[in-house]
Amino acid sequence: MLEYQVAPDALKGKTILVTGAGDGIGRAAALAYAAHGATVILLGRTVKKLEAVYDEIEAAGFPKPAIVPLDMKGATEQNYRDMAETIEEQFGHLDGVLHNASVLGVLGPFEHIDLVSLEEVMKVNVTAQAMMTKHLLKVLRKAPLASVVFTSSGVGRTGRAYWGPYSFSKFATEGMMQVLAHECDGTSVRANTINPGATRTKMRANAYPGEDPQTLKTAEELMPLYVYLMADNSKDQNGQAFSAQ
Ligand code: NDP
Repeated sequence: MLEYQVAPDALKGKTILVTGAGDGIGRAAALAYAAHGATVILLGRTVKKLEAVYDEIEAAGFPKPAIVPLDMKGATEQNYRDMAETIEEQFGHLDGVLHNASVLGVLGPFEHIDLVSLEEVMKVNVTAQAMMTKHLLKVLRKAPLASVVFTSSGVGRTGRAYWGPYSFSKFATEGMMQVLAHECDGTSVRANTINPGATRTKMRANAYPGEDPQTLKTAEELMPLYVYLMADNSKDQNGQAFSAQ
């Protein structure tokens, strides 16, 4: 991860939106971005968790964050239109988005795929991210340089038995990033994916209930890549699939 080291104030003056900022990797990223000087917009569905992250950022003396309570499962296009307008009014532009929030859905054999769970996974992991990005592009284009980072997975790069809709949704994430990156080529906006790899979070524990979490990397350990992709050091990276481990 040494190649991803950036200056301690590499994100100073930047405004960055993080989805699923209340827990797991999103929480660690929000704290890492704030520690590097960014004003972080904390988006998530559980307000209590977002408030806890807000308090941690404030207590550390980092730039004052903002909270956007939103359940991406029920969100409509209007929610994203309104959100982009509010960001434009309050901040003028947006320097980065970390699409981190995702749901695992139900793992199991193909014959057991449940329509309700499939539709939820695709809504949160794909549709919501596409509509959010669609409306945020206007404010991202107002930044001198802007970075859109999507979160993939090992099963979004190679299919694996029993990973069902979660795996398809992560392939769609890679595709969405590639389409956006191609459209943004040569502009001030760039798009990339990160596969965090096995990380000590609730989602991982749900997917692998028998595993000892102590054998896994913590979210904090992955942060050099997460910070690098938001910093101007990565301005020439576009359309790339990164791995944090
Ligand atoms: P967690 O389940 O720990 O955290 C996910 C976050 O997303 C939570 O804050 C959760 O909110 C939020 N979220 C879920 N659904 C919604 C929704 N409908 N609306 C708004 N927010 C929502 O997961 P991880 O931190 O482990 O995962 C982060 C990302 O990394 C995901 O995209 C995941 O697919 C990916 N990943 C993780 C790996 C791992 O080993 N952990 C490996 C490969 C990829 P709440 O806290 O309220 O539930």
